[in-house]
Order: sequence, then C-alpha cells, then structure tokens
Amino acid sequence: MLITNIQRFSLNDGPGIRTTIFLKGCNLNCQWCANPENISFEKEKYIKNNIEGIYGKNVTLNELEKEILKDKIYYETGGGVTFSGGEPLLHINELEPLLKRLKKQKINMCIETALMVSQENIKVVLQYIDTFIIDIKILDTNNCKKIIGGDINLYMKNIQTIFEQTQQVIFRIPLIKPYTYNKQNLCKIYEFLDKYKPLKVEIFKTHNLAKSKYESLNKKMIKIEEEISKAEIEEIKTNIAKFNINVEICTF
Ligand code: SF4
Repeated sequence: MLITNIQRFSLNDGPGIRTTIFLKGCNLNCQWCANPENISFEKEKYIKNNIEGIYGKNVTLNELEKEILKDKIYYETGGGVTFSGGEPLLHINELEPLLKRLKKQKINMCIETALMVSQENIKVVLQYIDTFIIDIKILDTNNCKKIIGGDINLYMKNIQTIFEQTQQVIFRIPLIKPYTYNKQNLCKIYEFLDKYKPLKVEIFKTHNLAKSKYESLNKKMIKIEEEISKAEIEEIKTNIAKFNINVEICTF
C-alpha cells in the first residue's frame, strides 16, 4: 500500500482517539485540497527548504497492522483507526485484507471519503466500516464535473446505498467561496441534509496552511480571496441545526 503518513493520537478523524492512515491517490482534483501530496497515485519528489524528499512510502499489510495495533489500548475510549487520503476507497484491493483482519480484532474503523467511486467498492467496505466520514462539496452535476472532476450522480447512488444500510455517517462540508459556498450550492446542501440525516455534520472553512506543501511540489494553490466570516459560518450552522442535526464548526 502506498501511504504518505500515519498519524497517531488523532482527535479529528472520527470518534475517540484514532490512528489515521493517509493513502496516496485521489480521482478528484479539488483546488483547495489540504493534502496535495495525496492526489497522485505515484511517489513524488519534493523540495522543502532546499532539502529533497519523497512523498509516498510502500508499506506491507503486516507493517500497517502492527502500527495500528500499537495504540489498541487507547481505542477503548471509543476510538480506532481511520483511513483517509487521497481517496481510500480507490485502494480497496489492497485495503480489504487489512479491514478483514482489523474487524476480527474488533477495531473500530472509519473511512474519510469523497465517495465518487464505484458502487462495488462501497459494497465491499460496508461489510467492515463502522463510520463513514463523507464530504459534501459541490452538488450540481455540471459544476461538480467542471470544478473538481467529480460525478455527482455516482455520489448520490453511493449515498443511497450507504443509507440503506447504516446511518453511521458524519458529513464534512468545506466552505469555500465561491466554489462550495454560494447560494445555489447551499440550497442543494440543505435539501440533501433534509433527506439524509447523519450522526453529525462538520463544517469548516479552508485556510492557506497547505501552501508550503504546494510549493514543495512546485504546484500552485488557489488563493482563498475571501474567507467565510464568523457570522456566515454561524448562519450555516443554524440552518443545518433546523433539520435536527448535530452540527459542529471545526477548525482542521
Ligand atoms: S477529494 Fe480530498 S484528497 Fe481528493 S483532491 Fe479533493 S480534497 Fe484532495
């Protein structure tokens, strides 16, 4: 498996104390991506402060399992392991044997996904995953295709498949003007949340913190010209809460 990072004692990637594994490779191209080193499916050279390095490291299933189990005692607080990326659902062939082993050991598992992957992959992970952490980005078909290269119809089918089986879902909404934060998209998001009730919604604004990662890859990050104000984010929180949904403003 090609990964870029293993983050232990993570508190922002699902319930409790977790170990988050970042798998390398994503089929979308969000211009605001906070992990640009996880988009390519290949190892990548970087240069940071005149020092060269490689984003991406191959690990075996055994190595990964050992690393995850190191913190088993902390998972008893309700935590576990979270697979993130990139898009972890595109690595299902490599991932499934590990999911199987962890399930046998009763390790709680979350997956962070943009969900624009084949239905087959969703059906596989539904057997193992306890909580899905799913992005809501751009819900309009054309804009989704144009701005992030995503297929919203596939996303909707996958949402339907997941909700037929579980409501253990946390939605994550990045608020970026004008891409995800605009009147039309917000209306679509509210309609969507009225239909699909998750455990929780996490809303957050993006920041320019990934700038140095983009520079290290010789890539340009979009400049976030106008940040969402405190009042605007509070208003969204209030609107979502009207659907009787637990909503939290996060500061990732
Ligand atoms: S889906 Fe996530 S990992 Fe992929 S490009 Fe978008 S923000 Fe980055």
